[in-house]
Amino acid sequence: PEDIRVYEFAEKLKRPMSDIIKVLFDLGMMMTKNDFLGADEIEILSEEFGVEVTIIDPKDEFNYVEEAESQEEEGEERPPIITIMGHVDHGKTSLLDAIRKAKVTEDEAGGITQHIGAYTINQHGREITFIDTPGHAAFSSMRQRGTDITDIIIIVVAADDGVKPQTEEVIKIAKDSGAPIIVALNKMDKETANPDLVKGQMAERGISPVDWGGDIEFVPLSAKTGMGLDDLLENILLTADILELKASPDANAKAAVVESSLEKGRGPVATVIVQNGTLKVGDNVVCGKAHGRVKALINENSKQIKSVPPSHTAVVVGLNEVPAAGEIMMAMKNDKEAKEYAQKRYEYDRHKELSKSTKSTLEDMTSMI
Ligand code: GDP
Ligand code: MG
Repeated sequence: PEDIRVYEFAEKLKRPMSDIIKVLFDLGMMMTKNDFLGADEIEILSEEFGVEVTIIDPKDEFNYVEEAESQEEEGEERPPIITIMGHVDHGKTSLLDAIRKAKVTEDEAGGITQHIGAYTINQHGREITFIDTPGHAAFSSMRQRGTDITDIIIIVVAADDGVKPQTEEVIKIAKDSGAPIIVALNKMDKETANPDLVKGQMAERGISPVDWGGDIEFVPLSAKTGMGLDDLLENILLTADILELKASPDANAKAAVVESSLEKGRGPVATVIVQNGTLKVGDNVVCGKAHGRVKALINENSKQIKSVPPSHTAVVVGLNEVPAAGEIMMAMKNDKEAKEYAQKRYEYDRHKELSKSTKSTLEDMTSMI
């Protein structure tokens, strides 16, 4: 195991090398394809990718790939994670609010609902998680880090206004991300709504409606009247079925920060969406340069909860500093490990600042391989 190189490890896991390098990078370790992985790095990587790695005698028949495959099959279905994008005033906030209001199951105890940057709804017994962050800072920051958590992108276009500059930007982002796209034709309640015009404009930009022989679903709806909301949610679930989204609830938690702030009385807080594993109160976590022990997990009904399963969301209290949106939070074995990784990351960031090579971004690194 001491003599496995980054690219060999990637091959064993059947993962792109850039994924491996990015994970190491996020933990503050600059490695390129020919670098050797130590036992520590192998351990972190295996946790990260939810693979059980057994360090073995070469004669043994067991190998990483078999393990990786068996783990994947064992994964359990998880709810899809959705990001809504679109031109200003086309109705993103209205749509997110309408879905939340219609579908979030409120606590019987009736806690005060609080905006926490993401929420999970229940559609006929199945769950869907929406990222509800203004400006989608987390989305772009995650894309930069290569740890995009969005499974499906909804592009909202106001049917009375059509494709606008930001719609064009969003189309590009959505295409680049490779995530499936669903188009929400909003404001259908308006007399001036012209869905065919929008379909034509979108088709010209490579977003072809299914009813025109293309492969993108266009769902007419109104965030104002609620018309079409169920169709949108059903479409999301159908798309999710095709994606076969899975995660292992028993793995060590890995979560993405969608919002963060410093709160009076609570200190640094971060809203996270769990990608894999289950985040629990008491977990020792590292999150970029920040680390800490999860003191409390709070849901959007302001209720304290004990744990957060995959694709679910909560506010995490207990970090020593505010992590950036888009940062990845990982549960570590113990307090010492969490501190060590946070320290490594801190040193790496400092080094990057000092060495003026501020332009040496992740993109540069991956293009070097
Ligand atoms: P955002 O900038 O994309 O978040 O758009 P908003 O949700 O803030 O909506 C912009 C404006 O359009 C607001 O005045 C909304 O009330 C209005 N609006 C949003 N959805 C609809 C809709 O389905 N029908 C109508 N008539 N107005 C809508
Ligand atoms: Mg808005």
